This record gives sequence, C-alpha cells and structure tokens, in this order.
Amino acid sequence: MIGRKLSREERKPSNLRRLLAYVKPHWPQYALATAAGLVKFLMPVAIAWLVGQAVDTLGSVNAGKMSNQAGWIEIKRLLLIGAGIVLASPIFVYWRSAVSARATQEVIKSLRCDLYAHIQKLSHSFFDSNRSGSLTSRIIGDTEMIQPFLGKAFVQIWLCIALISVVLTYFFSKSVYLGLLSVSLLPVQLLIQRKIGWRVKRNATAIRDHLARLSGSAQEKLAAATVVKAFTGEDEEIQRFSDDSNVLVGLGVKNSKLSGMSEASMNFVRYSTQLVVVLIGGHLALFHPGEITVGLLIQFILMQGQIYTPFEWLNEMQLITASALGATDRIFSIFDTEPEVADRPGAVRAPRFRGEIVLERVCFSYPTSDNLIFDRLDLVIPAKTTLALVGPSGGGKTTVTHLLNRFYELDSGRILIDGRDTCDYTIYSLRHQIGLVPQEPVLFSGTIAENILYGRPDASFEEVCDAARRAYAEEFIEEMEDGYETMLGERGVRLSGGQRQRISIARTFLKDPAIIVLDEATSALDSESERIVQQALEELTVERTTIVVAHRLSTIKNADQIAVVDQGRVIELGPHDALIAQGGLYARLCEQQFDLSTQQ
Ligand code: ADP
Ligand code: MG
Repeated sequence: MIGRKLSREERKPSNLRRLLAYVKPHWPQYALATAAGLVKFLMPVAIAWLVGQAVDTLGSVNAGKMSNQAGWIEIKRLLLIGAGIVLASPIFVYWRSAVSARATQEVIKSLRCDLYAHIQKLSHSFFDSNRSGSLTSRIIGDTEMIQPFLGKAFVQIWLCIALISVVLTYFFSKSVYLGLLSVSLLPVQLLIQRKIGWRVKRNATAIRDHLARLSGSAQEKLAAATVVKAFTGEDEEIQRFSDDSNVLVGLGVKNSKLSGMSEASMNFVRYSTQLVVVLIGGHLALFHPGEITVGLLIQFILMQGQIYTPFEWLNEMQLITASALGATDRIFSIFDTEPEVADRPGAVRAPRFRGEIVLERVCFSYPTSDNLIFDRLDLVIPAKTTLALVGPSGGGKTTVTHLLNRFYELDSGRILIDGRDTCDYTIYSLRHQIGLVPQEPVLFSGTIAENILYGRPDASFEEVCDAARRAYAEEFIEEMEDGYETMLGERGVRLSGGQRQRISIARTFLKDPAIIVLDEATSALDSESERIVQQALEELTVERTTIVVAHRLSTIKNADQIAVVDQGRVIELGPHDALIAQGGLYARLCEQQFDLSTQQ
C-alpha cells in the first residue's frame, strides 16, 4: 500500500482498541443485550436445578420425611417458578437479538462510512497501487466480517464466562468431588479444540483466499467478454475456471472433515464424561449418602452438559474473533494511510482564475517509481490561450495534466496560476476551476441529466439543457424516448463513444471552469463523431485557458502554442508554422501525420 503509512510503533492504540472506540457510544445497548442474554443462558441451568429439587422432594416423600400433601405443594411451587422462567425467556431471547443487532449494525455502518470517506479523500497514488476490486472488498467484505464478532462473540463471551462460573461455583459449593469431576475432562476437550480449531482456521483462510482469486479472475474475464469471444477463448476460460474450482472441492471437503472430526471428538468427551459421572456419582449416592442426593446427581448430570456448550462456543468465538481481528487490521491499515496531497496550512480559496499557467522548473517522478518524468520543466501558458502538448507516447503529457490538478506533489519546482503557487490554494477550489476531459469519458449509472449535473449539482434544468446544447448533445438526447431521464449504466441505454464524450463535455460546460484540459479527448472516436465532438470542444475552450493533448494534426495546428515534450523537457515551443520551419521533432511528426506519436 502506498501513501504515508505509520510504522507499527507509531500506531499507538491497538486496532482492537480503535474498533472498540466505535462500539463505545453503543455500550448501553451491548450491556442490555448481555443482561438479557444471561437470562437465556441460565435457563437450562435453572431447569436442571428445578428437576433436581423436584426429584429430591419426591425422595423425601418416599422416605416419609414429608407428607404427600406438602410434597405436592412443593412440586407445584417449583413448577410455578419453572413456568415463569419458560414464559419470560422468549422475550429476553428476542430482546437480546434485537438490541445487539441494532447496535452492531450501527457500529458497522459508521465504520464502513468512515472508511469510504477516508478512501475517497486519499490521493491518486493510493489508487494507482490499490485495485478498486480489493478496495471494495475492504469496504464491504471486511466490515461485514466484523459483524459476527460484535453481534455474537462480543456479547456471548461474557455469557459463557458467567455460565461456567455459576455452574462451577454451584458444584463446588455442593460437593468438592462433583466440582473436581466436572472439570476433570475439560483439559482433554480444550486440547482437541485447540488442535482442530487451528486447522479449521487455516483451512478457512485458504478457502477465502481461493474464492477471492476465483471471483476476481471470473469478474475480469466476464467484463472482457468481447476480447474473450473475439479470440475464441471461451473453452480455455471454462477449463481454467473448472481447474481452479477443483482446488475448492478439496478444501471444502477438508473443511467438512475437520468439523466432523471436531464434533465427533466433542461428543465422545461429553458422553464419556456423563458415563463417568453416573459411575462415580452413583457410587457416592449409594455408599456415601451424606455426600450427595439423587436430585443433586441429576442436576449434576444435566448441568454438566451445559458447561461443555460454552466451551464449544468459546472455541467458535475464538475463530470469529481471529477473523474479525484480521479484518480490523486490514481496515485500520487503510485508515493509517494518509493523503499525500493535502491542503497546506493557510491555503486559501482560489478566486475565479484568469487562467495564466506557469510551470517553473518542475521536477517530478511518480511515487511508485524512481523514473524522473520531468527534469526542470518550464512552460508558460498565457491566460485564455491554447497550448497543445505533443510528444512521443510516455513522454509525460498526461502527467502534466495530473500535476496541474495536483493529483501528485511535485518533487521540486512550482506551478503557478495567475501568479500564485497552486499549493497556496485549497485543493478543492483549485480543481473546481479545472475541467478535465479525458480520453475515456466516465459516465455513472443514473440518468443523463444526473450525469450532466455531476458538473454542478445545484444547476437548474434549463442550465443542464443549455450545457447539452453547447456540447452538441441536445439533439440525440431529445430523440431518446425518455430524453434527459434516460437511464445509463449497466441496465440502461448504451451510448456511442461520441455521445458519451459529448455528455462529459456538457458536464464540463456546467462546471464552467477557467481552465480546460483535454487529454486525447477525441482519439478514441471515429472521424464522424470526432468532427462533432471537436466542434463541441471548440465551443468549450472559448475564453478559457486550454491545454490540449491530441494526436491528430488538425486538433493541434490551430493552438496558439505547441510544446513538444520529450525526455522530461520542452524541446520545442511555438506556433505550428514556426515549428515546421524549425524542422525538428514536430516537423518530423507532422510529416508522419502523427500516426506514430501518441497512442496512450
Ligand atoms: P503520455 O501521456 O505522454 O503518453 P504519461 O504522462 O501517461 O505519458 O506517462 C509518462 C511516464 O510516466 C510513462 O513512462 C509512464 O509509464 C509513467 N507513468 C504514468 N502514470 C504513472 C503512474 N500512475 N505511476 C507510475 N508511473 C506512471
Ligand atoms: Mg497520455
């Protein structure tokens, strides 16, 4: 991950603590849920206790220590308590889920929204080195993975501890033998859990990684269906998918085998303990009647079963917690990445630019590589004139447009607009006045009107129509059945390249920037749509400072100045005729009609 990342030592609070900071505002809900859960968890124990008491009452009656009448009254009293517990328990069970679910969803939502907001604010370099697919899985998948931890483990862990301590205290208070007996086989159980649990976890991670790879490659191949079909690669892709899926079969089977093993050994331990309990308990009851009663033995057998369950839960929770902590680490490592390009202290809001741009000894290399793209680049673009950038592919033309937008920080040098360093302006107000029309117009799913409004969301419908007209887009929009309300995107209408570009130009009209940057805006178009897009662009650049990157001579010829950029420097500068007369690289490129120049 690129970006200024704090080292481990610098990250003072642990990631778990940072996660808990999100939980903190909701602690009363979690406390309530835990309290309600206590009722649910202790119910089986209470029932076991009642049954034991009832058996002992019957025993007393049989032994003649109690009259039938008194025994019946006692049994009815116990049943009444039992009925009360049974009736109350569904309410608490429901309540617990509802309260903890709400709190958990709120926590996940805040975390997810903060993460999304943070990522949105990160710099260009971050997106250069993080695929959007993996970011989406951070925002959606990793936050989701925390949910079972907060919703279940976080509440249940206290309940397990409470349950185990209540039951053990009860046993030890009644009989030391029983107490010791009940914990005697626990070490065996814990050992099994540990051994198998660890393997289950490793296997689960392998499954998840493999699934992510499989879905990633399927997504890529499905998105590029045109290429796959054109190269008739379907069968090969099907085979590859099937081969990759085979690995999952093995992992999935292993997963089931492991949980089968775990369940089998748990059952073995649990039931063999019960047999031992019957043996030793029976012996005690028969030969040391003072030690325990039949009722206590029954309680013991029933409750014994109850304390194995929380230990199994603890095991499950350990797995949930481990995967949640993994996700937490990944999430907070993004939070630890800070935007490289940020407002300088004291940055001011840019006034409306006249549009004079000066690049002063600009040195730059991308953060991800050591390649020096610009070495003391100088360039002056007077306000409201057009400068065409020309040069071999990879010469740094697009990079100039990135730097003007301050997508990256310069290594040294300055970029001035209207005589002031662009770093003195807030990034937001700077970018607000630069209109970027890239080669591939990006339209979002939504209506045409919404896409144009992206340029200035508070514009009126009339302004949207006006922008569309000036971008030569009005005609085709109005021909559509739904006009401006036509849906674009996956389930909407498909537009031609030229139409898409005109909508993106309309968007820029609406933004009304003082500076326009056209990066190969027409190079992906056929000559017919190029002509009309070109008209729209000419309209757009009137009265604005324009930087145009193009590989068609016709677009470049009329520029006020043409700068030929090569090896990080401007090697030729001047109007078309002067450069032709100079007979340098530009003249050579013109001879070749720019055919070999820029294809990027
Ligand atoms: P042009 O637009 O003139 O074809 P670019 O400005 O896109 O050239 O690229 C200039 C150089 O910078 C190329 O060598 C390219 O490989 C490199 N480059 C472009 N974008 C990045 C990036 N995001 N990270 C690292 N290197 C980059
Ligand atoms: Mg380029």
